[in-house]
Amino acid sequence: MGHKSYDAIVIGSGMGGLTAGALLAKKGLRVLLIEKEKQVGGYVVSFKREGFTPLENPAIYGKDNISEASIPYRKGGVKAPSFLTGFTFDGTGVFVGGCQEGGEFYQILKEIGVYEEIEFIPIHHIRNIYPGFEIHLQEGGFSSYTEALLSLFPEEEKGLRTYLSLIKRIGDEVRSYSDMTLPKRIFFPFYFKNLIRFHRTHHKTILDSLFRGGEIKMALHSLPVTEPPSKLSFLFVATLISKALMEGTFYPKGGMGRISEAMANSLLRFDGEIRLKTEADQILIKDGKIEGILTRDGKIFQAPVVISNINPNLLAGMLPHEYQKPFVKRRRRFGYSLSCFILYIATDLDLKGGNLPYFTYLRSLSDLEEEDRMFRRGEVPKNPTMIISIPTLLDPSLAPTGQHLLKVLVTVPYHYRGGWGKENPEKYHQIKGEFSQRVLQQLESKFIPGLRDHLLFCEAATPLTLERYTGNELGATYGLASTPQQIGNLRPSHRTPIPGLFQAGHYTRPSHGIVGASLSGLFAARAILRQLRL
Ligand SMILES: Cc1cc2nc3c(=O)[nH]c(=O)nc-3n(C[C@H](O)[C@H](O)[C@H](O)COP(=O)(O)OP(=O)(O)OC[C@H]3O[C@@H](n4cnc5c(N)ncnc54)[C@H](O)[C@@H]3O)c2cc1C
Repeated sequence: MGHKSYDAIVIGSGMGGLTAGALLAKKGLRVLLIEKEKQVGGYVVSFKREGFTPLENPAIYGKDNISEASIPYRKGGVKAPSFLTGFTFDGTGVFVGGCQEGGEFYQILKEIGVYEEIEFIPIHHIRNIYPGFEIHLQEGGFSSYTEALLSLFPEEEKGLRTYLSLIKRIGDEVRSYSDMTLPKRIFFPFYFKNLIRFHRTHHKTILDSLFRGGEIKMALHSLPVTEPPSKLSFLFVATLISKALMEGTFYPKGGMGRISEAMANSLLRFDGEIRLKTEADQILIKDGKIEGILTRDGKIFQAPVVISNINPNLLAGMLPHEYQKPFVKRRRRFGYSLSCFILYIATDLDLKGGNLPYFTYLRSLSDLEEEDRMFRRGEVPKNPTMIISIPTLLDPSLAPTGQHLLKVLVTVPYHYRGGWGKENPEKYHQIKGEFSQRVLQQLESKFIPGLRDHLLFCEAATPLTLERYTGNELGATYGLASTPQQIGNLRPSHRTPIPGLFQAGHYTRPSHGIVGASLSGLFAARAILRQLRL
């Protein structure tokens, strides 16, 4: 009564929510998307910072002041003139797959009419560094990666060919599965031999059975996951490689946030509505059916369909008590991926033509399981595995001329040093500052001498930051961990036990990642449209 009503409400503007919202709006549904932050995208955002200049703020510019330098300029420093500064950082991601013509992400963006709005730059140049050897590629794509492995480890050729052939066969079966027909359903074991054969298999089992040396195993496990080989599903690895990495990876010109912005614009063009800084507080249910939502500021929006793009535990907490049980029970069965520490750096050093390409993977421990054992104890190795990216090498417009941006990602446990000192702001800043120093020191000693004397900006995000901004509990980088128990159809469905309530995002099917979460939105939208017979 007097409340605004819609056909569907989306809670959360991550990749899953934006995709579902845009697709439903395109079909003519009146869609409202609400987002608690002041910008859309969830993990896929870019943000601007102004930075410091050496002349104007020498105290912050010094190498001993990293914890101060991590305070945004509005609180602690002096704003530099805009012609000197203005950095566009990406909140989290480094690359996106499936953007080539015909690729999975290409098809979604095409369907919502925004593919042409984003220029995807292919990432050709990568450097993976391991203890004792490295792989340096000038041409991207998983096939050139495996060619490099063949020339490094000729004695492993047989195993590598078998590995690749398994990946191809599993990839084909996954593709065929998404186009399910009655004969395939009836003769399932015949059509999907490998999906059945490997459904419980960990990556470690395959690596150990095909390869003798530890080095090639390390190189084949350099994947965008937080699980070690003994926990990661081999089916997931095969799907990821065959669908997303085989054809190469890409970086959107203008920053990762371009993707979310383009998707949001699509939703708006199809007459959808977006409300930022609007947090869902309760899901309203009457006689077992979805009625709408109540926001934290007391507004009611009505709709017979609600799509949740948020952590399932948070969703459960928004339901009336009697509806929470199945969600809470399910949550107990599932395990999250680990979290991440992120360092955002701007420097006036010329990194073009240096020893770091756009993407560098640095692993210092040769035991693939040791790091994970430490994480489970709440510890981080002295020299943790890092992913270093320099987006200004692909898109110089992200920083003023002659300046560069670096982003360093380090997988870390949420409970490091008692939860990053979260009970006490001073301790939190101290732990964050110390960790930042560790990362800077490694960068300086291994790749960029003098970096700390050339910092224009340095800010860190911890698991607490990720959790606070996106509602991903424990700062989970990829939602659910991709273990054999939590992949594909074993992940929560888009339908829920409550009629009218749907889920999308990286806690649901098919998987995590920008493309995985976007696909979840596509599947959720399809399920809704089927239900509405549209
Ligand atoms: C450090 C890091 C690096 C990554 N790198 C890559 C990469 O290189 N490539 C890749 O493909 N993937 C990468 N990922 C993973 C990828 O970003 C995620 O899997 C994916 O974006 C998750 O999308 P989602 O749809 O689940 O939504 P999320 O991104 O989790 O967004 C959820 C949204 O819901 C909002 N929300 C929460 N609660 C409420 C509420 N009550 N009311 C309203 N809104 C609410 C949040 O503010 C947020 O905007 C990375 C992730 C991290 C953390």
